[in-house]
Amino acid sequence: MSNNKNYHVAIIGGGYSGMAAAVKLAAADIPVTVFESAKQLGGRARGVRHNNVQLDNGQHILLGCYHQTLQLIEQVGGNIEQDFLRVPLQLTLHNRFELKAPHLPAPLHLLAGLLSAKGLTFVERLRAARFMLALNRINFSLPQDISVFELLSIHGQGDELIRLLWEPLCIAALNTPINIASAQVLLHVLRDSLNGLRSDSDMLLPRMDFTALFPERATEYVKQHRGTVLNTSSVEAIIPHSDEIELITRPTAESTAQTKLFSHVICAASPIAAVRLFRTVPQLALIAEQIAAIPHQPIYTVYLQYPKQVRLPHPMLGLDRCFAQWLFDKGQISGQHGLIAAVISAHGRHQNLQHELLAQKVAQELYEQLGIVEAPVWHKVIAEKRATFSCEINLPRPPHITQLANILIAGDYTAGDYPATLEGAMISGVLCARTILATIQ
Ligand SMILES: Cc1cc2nc3c(=O)[nH]c(=O)nc-3n(C[C@H](O)[C@H](O)[C@H](O)COP(=O)(O)OP(=O)(O)OC[C@H]3O[C@@H](n4cnc5c(N)ncnc54)[C@H](O)[C@@H]3O)c2cc1C
Repeated sequence: MSNNKNYHVAIIGGGYSGMAAAVKLAAADIPVTVFESAKQLGGRARGVRHNNVQLDNGQHILLGCYHQTLQLIEQVGGNIEQDFLRVPLQLTLHNRFELKAPHLPAPLHLLAGLLSAKGLTFVERLRAARFMLALNRINFSLPQDISVFELLSIHGQGDELIRLLWEPLCIAALNTPINIASAQVLLHVLRDSLNGLRSDSDMLLPRMDFTALFPERATEYVKQHRGTVLNTSSVEAIIPHSDEIELITRPTAESTAQTKLFSHVICAASPIAAVRLFRTVPQLALIAEQIAAIPHQPIYTVYLQYPKQVRLPHPMLGLDRCFAQWLFDKGQISGQHGLIAAVISAHGRHQNLQHELLAQKVAQELYEQLGIVEAPVWHKVIAEKRATFSCEINLPRPPHITQLANILIAGDYTAGDYPATLEGAMISGVLCARTILATIQ
């Protein structure tokens, strides 16, 4: 590109969507500056240190169909087979249910897995397989959105089938209870994960923390391409001028408030921060109110450090009717022996408990369900109260473009096929970068 020297793109937020946009623009030789208010990058997918042990703010899982995410990780120097433990499609609720997809091409692997699933009656297995065939026939597309529960009921999925298979799957994928969750968004995830290549349904469990996995590598990449990444640099105001955008950053101990001018701005901050920034810009006031109306759901992660010999029967294991919905054995995943991460998604009774008591209850479940008699050496509960948007029926989500051609929005909550996921965030960041590139090339 010949005349890029006139362009300088500011990106507010160094989470996955912001860093995705930064990498794509940097790769096209556009100078970028990323402003991240926190000390470290990653946003809702970031590394956290506790007791000298590397944790994340929450256990994350990727799917093989997250093509954009995997491509970007590789673009900045990652190696998918080394960075992740790859687990072929397998869903196990301890002592209650097991679905294991055999080595067949998709979607036969799923159908065969459903027909041989343990814990269901013959009729239930048949109904589940027929449901998948029916979804295939309608191309995973509904004439109008309904709740996941309604869709399952229409297709005769019965209480046990819902409880053991579809509800845990929906909560894990959408972080939203099935009675309000969008069936159409779930179908997008099922379409992409179960109906493409067999490897698209693989579960990828990261062996490293989420700041190291992508944002740190992306920073190196951006710096090598004339870009800048500023941590502890909070944008406090956006002021549009006729052909430039002025950003005001918060004063720090070392510097006073600074203003900077840019040709374009991508706001890749969390929804709550985007609302704060947009409300003071008259042209963005409407979009600010649309974002403010988006409901949220929490995710709690209870880390329990046991003696090193403690391990689970699988790297990832579900529990039925427990506080802990999914358990992850960090020993098998990342060599952190004895460390178990228990994930509790969406609203629920766990939110009424003190963290200390919640950790005790989860440890008790591990004892009762799995016979782990050892006591945890330490525990850490991380409650992300606004972990994701609540992925509800027909939820209005803002587009990536705004009334102002040179201000764009990236983030997992912007309009797209996916629920709040890393893939949704990465796709939105890339879309913003492509939109800017299309206008200036
Ligand atoms: C506990 C938990 C578990 C999850 N599990 C999964 C999972 O298993 N699989 C999956 O795909 N997804 C999962 N997600 C969702 C996934 O983490 C998010 O979809 C994704 O990280 C969102 O990225 P983002 O860039 O859109 O937003 P964010 O990560 O929120 O990034 C926004 C960034 O902007 C910064 N910022 C805010 N205000 C300002 C400002 N004024 N100036 C400068 N910077 C600012 C913030 O500090 C933050 O770094 C999980 C989320 C949580 C919380």
